[in-house]
Amino acid sequence: MNIEMKYTYVLVIFLIFQQPVNAAEVNIYSARKEALIKPLLENFSKKTGIEVNLITGKADTFIKRLEIEGKNTPADILLTVDAARLVRAKEKGLLQKVNSAVLNEVIPDSLRDVDNLWFGLSLRSRVIIYAPERVEMKDLSDYIDLSNTKWRNRICVRSSSNIYNQSLVASMIAHYGIDKTEAWAKGLVENFARNPKGGDRDQIKAVAAGVCDIALVNNYYLAGMLDSGQEDEISAAMKIKLFWPGQKGYGAHVNISGAGVIKYAKNQKEAIELLEYLVTDKAQEWYSNINYEYSINPKIKSTGVLKKWGEFVSDDIDLSLLGKYNSEAVLLMDRVGWK
Ligand code: FE
Repeated sequence: MNIEMKYTYVLVIFLIFQQPVNAAEVNIYSARKEALIKPLLENFSKKTGIEVNLITGKADTFIKRLEIEGKNTPADILLTVDAARLVRAKEKGLLQKVNSAVLNEVIPDSLRDVDNLWFGLSLRSRVIIYAPERVEMKDLSDYIDLSNTKWRNRICVRSSSNIYNQSLVASMIAHYGIDKTEAWAKGLVENFARNPKGGDRDQIKAVAAGVCDIALVNNYYLAGMLDSGQEDEISAAMKIKLFWPGQKGYGAHVNISGAGVIKYAKNQKEAIELLEYLVTDKAQEWYSNINYEYSINPKIKSTGVLKKWGEFVSDDIDLSLLGKYNSEAVLLMDRVGWK
């Protein structure tokens, strides 16, 4: 080896070691509150050495942002709640097909996209809550009964701009068709005790305070209030009871939190690995214990308050229908004056 070759050799070796070691990473656009997902992501990083970068914001903003960013997006995963939003992301061509035996095996068909573009990661139900002092359990049955005149001026529910209500109405459209759902929604609005306002926790507080007798809320808000450690939330939550709607019919309306891998993800392998981690037994138990959501894996049993509420029949319609009927639901709610 002459001097020149030696020099080149040393230079090449030097350059190889100069390359920054590209640590494996995965970047998430998350519409979930940080506290509801971060501990799980930290465990994933510890286990795999893959760094997780979390950007938290609003789902609809992320969907717009992904459309604008296109191929230049830094995001690998879109994580959000409500199947209707994941369907929206799919329809806008923002997600990619994922072939994962793990995800396909653990997640039931109805809780993931038919083309494997999005996957449910946890399950929640929109339930009826009631004040046992003023409502007898035997008078409750299913969602469709909420338009009955016996509930006149007795129901609280948040606004129609909220996607949980849009998805509930979309599920009614899937079951009953537009006309029957519209007649139902009209009766429901006539039964409102007040103009819709606040979030689900506010509906629980309103029932506890006697503003209304029943309300529609997602199950985890009630569980979270009972476990909040805050006296006002606990005492409000203690005054009300949960009722599983539709147990003699098609079951209680359920929805998911879920995720999809971004079409232009740069860290595709890591993104899939993370989704697979989120359906492991350990992660699924966490969703139930900490977030008060149900596991998408029927084998994982609930604990605490969720266990106390018992098992329930859940509506098993294909959740992509919630996306399919979303705009019909929004228009319908507007027509019947659901503010
Ligand atoms: Fe929520």
